[in-house]
Amino acid sequence: MPAYPNEILKCFRANEDGRYELTQTFVVDGYRYAGDGFVCARMRCDEPDTEGRWPDVAALKWSAREYASVPIPLPAIETIPPDPPEEKCTCCDGSGEMAPGVECPMCDHGMRARPMPAMKMDDIEIALDHVRLLSAHDATLFAPINRNTPGYAQTAYFKIGDEIEGLIAVCKSGHSVIVEPITPTPATLEERNRNER
Ligand SMILES: [Zn+2]
Repeated sequence: MPAYPNEILKCFRANEDGRYELTQTFVVDGYRYAGDGFVCARMRCDEPDTEGRWPDVAALKWSAREYASVPIPLPAIETIPPDPPEEKCTCCDGSGEMAPGVECPMCDHGMRARPMPAMKMDDIEIALDHVRLLSAHDATLFAPINRNTPGYAQTAYFKIGDEIEGLIAVCKSGHSVIVEPITPTPATLEERNRNER
């Protein structure tokens, strides 16, 4: 695991650039940021602003008043289940085509997009890969308050150590499949112990 906040921050970058250049970290107004559109992490820095195309990250809901003051416990990393496998499309039986040369409208090359797997903590749902990311870095997570009120934060807030803070998207209820924590097997526990040594 990376030992320095700058290294940890890099874990929050996007895998590919889209409308914005998010595969790199960038400096805006005294903070270095990393994000992918669903998560945004930052830490203070005294470098000049980076040139590039960024979303308006400073305008996100960073104020502590938007979030509960008591943290939500995150599941231990070894209890977070793996992503459920994608399902074969029942419409085209996994071929991706309705007829030769006619693409199936119901799937992506024969695999059905499944709802996003998420874990429910208190009453907020966070995407499974985000739970994994936060748990791996020993983050402390705070739920948004008044989240059913339009205009209030639809993100949860997290801290990693004293230096990194971040915002993470809360899944809309009903848009994700809730997965339950698993009981680690002796093998996964042993592997964890080995990694910590
Ligand atoms: Zn199909």
